[in-house]
Amino acid sequence: MMAPGKKMIIGCCHCSEEFDPDNLPDDAAVQAGMILAEERYDDAGKVCANCLASRGRLAMMYDPDCQ
Ligand SMILES: [Zn+2]
Repeated sequence: MMAPGKKMIIGCCHCSEEFDPDNLPDDAAVQAGMILAEERYDDAGKVCANCLASRGRLAMMYDPDCQ
């Protein structure tokens, strides 16, 4: 049986953009967004890097918990 490189691409639950949740950029804003996704929004793994980054960037600017 041939396994054709199992790569999981899923659609972002916010913008429907397709992305690979195992291959997110190593960016501070994305990392902050991922923490928020896990701890606050409960949608980790379902949000693309762009949406994570904008969420993370906003949190870093406005959320004192994230400083
Ligand atoms: Zn998105």
